[in-house]
Amino acid sequence: MSEAGVQDVHIIGAGLAGSEAAFFLAERGITVTIHEMRPQTMTPAHSTGDCAELVCSNSFKSTNPNSAHGMLKTEMNEMGSLVLKTAPSVAVPAGDALAVDRKLFSEKITQALHTHPNISFFHEEASKPRRDKITLVATGPLTSPALAEWLAKITGNEDLYFYDAIAPIVEASSVDPLYSFSANRYDKGDEAAYLNCPMNKEQYEEFIDTLLTARCVPPRAFEKEKFYAGCQPIEAIAQTGRESLRFGPMKPVGLADPRTGERPHAVLQLRTENRSKTAFNLVGFQTKLTYGEQSRVFRRIPALRNAEFLRFGSIHRNTYVCGPRVLRPDLSVKGEPTVYLGGQITGVEGYLESAACGMLAAHFIYQRIREQPHDAPPADTTLGALLRHVTGAEEKNYQPSGMHFGLLDPLFFPDVTGLPKDVSRQKMADHARISFAKWWERMRARGD
Ligand SMILES: Cc1cc2nc3c(=O)[nH]c(=O)nc-3n(C[C@H](O)[C@H](O)[C@H](O)COP(=O)(O)OP(=O)(O)OC[C@H]3O[C@@H](n4cnc5c(N)ncnc54)[C@H](O)[C@@H]3O)c2cc1C
Repeated sequence: MSEAGVQDVHIIGAGLAGSEAAFFLAERGITVTIHEMRPQTMTPAHSTGDCAELVCSNSFKSTNPNSAHGMLKTEMNEMGSLVLKTAPSVAVPAGDALAVDRKLFSEKITQALHTHPNISFFHEEASKPRRDKITLVATGPLTSPALAEWLAKITGNEDLYFYDAIAPIVEASSVDPLYSFSANRYDKGDEAAYLNCPMNKEQYEEFIDTLLTARCVPPRAFEKEKFYAGCQPIEAIAQTGRESLRFGPMKPVGLADPRTGERPHAVLQLRTENRSKTAFNLVGFQTKLTYGEQSRVFRRIPALRNAEFLRFGSIHRNTYVCGPRVLRPDLSVKGEPTVYLGGQITGVEGYLESAACGMLAAHFIYQRIREQPHDAPPADTTLGALLRHVTGAEEKNYQPSGMHFGLLDPLFFPDVTGLPKDVSRQKMADHARISFAKWWERMRARGD
């Protein structure tokens, strides 16, 4: 057994990640102590003392096995996910999505954990993890200030963030090549890193009109409408003047449209999001527009008229670390060998992804307790792709991400190039299922 204590793991936070991790370990005979600060100390978004409370929507997204979230569900189900075992028993109708009665859902999870013989609870706020035991920190986007202070101390202030300012991501093949061109501003650099979406005056004016009248997500009571200068939502910039975006994120300087040889009136730049260039980020386009409005407004940009959005933009309070700089491949913290991070605090985003990340951390902790070598889900699975994001994404501009196809590197799916989207996604899902099943079978053979 490991040096850090025989079968005794501490988990701080009984949200989506902490609950999933506790169950995973407890089911394998590991004794788990959960430290959860609610209901004595509440976060600004939770309203009960229950475990795995869903603070906003009640949906775990698509169940279509060929969608990114459907693929993730398949893998989590194989690993015995408590969240996915519980959700169908309290499901409410939601088309092809898995949505639940949120009250019943968290009551059931709470009951499963409270009655588990290997789990004990302390309802207390932890200000730091214990170092003499393996501890999983799963305190989520609203981590209490005392623990955030400890995290800032060990990770360095510049590696702990308190706000998400996320720009949308579109699928590369859905950007119209007739209305876009590759170039770097002033032709700097050897390789063109940007895809530029030019607009003439009329198109820009129409875009501004649409943007200024679009609906935004109302701020939560605890989220002050105060943004850092560098991450202002585009609609807020546009409200300061019709030309503001042309002098900000849509400035056309240093760019010439090869179709006309002239500088466009305004330009949206797209930056490649992954090494395989299958997804592009709308540079500087963080926004609080509702998701529906984002498709409507951004499709007014000619190059994006048929854009498929892999992720929508958002801005909200969120505590998370720069995972790729701070974490080791097994989700333990560099320089703190007994401390692991799981859930949204690592830079995943979403209920399902947070639970998945908690499960991954628990899996690695279990490997360590059993003194088995590190063995992670392969990169051609959705769990593997999420893990690659939080431990291997580019450190600069690191942003939280939910599961989407852009996280799956096409290098691992060579046989889908050029196929229609539906066919290629079906093939990718089949490929991932086989790869995951093989890996999990190997883990089970070792006793996982
Ligand atoms: C306002 C808001 C709305 C969101 N809406 C959605 C949505 O609609 N859909 C979606 O998919 N995702 C949503 N998310 C994102 C995210 O997926 C969820 O927040 C998810 O619950 C994160 O899971 P987690 O386990 O990492 O954190 P949480 O589920 O938040 O769990 C963390 C737990 O740690 C506890 N805790 C914090 N600090 C301490 C401490 N020092 N000591 C002890 N306990 C502590 C908290 O009380 C909490 O129970 C939202 C996030 C926020 C902030």
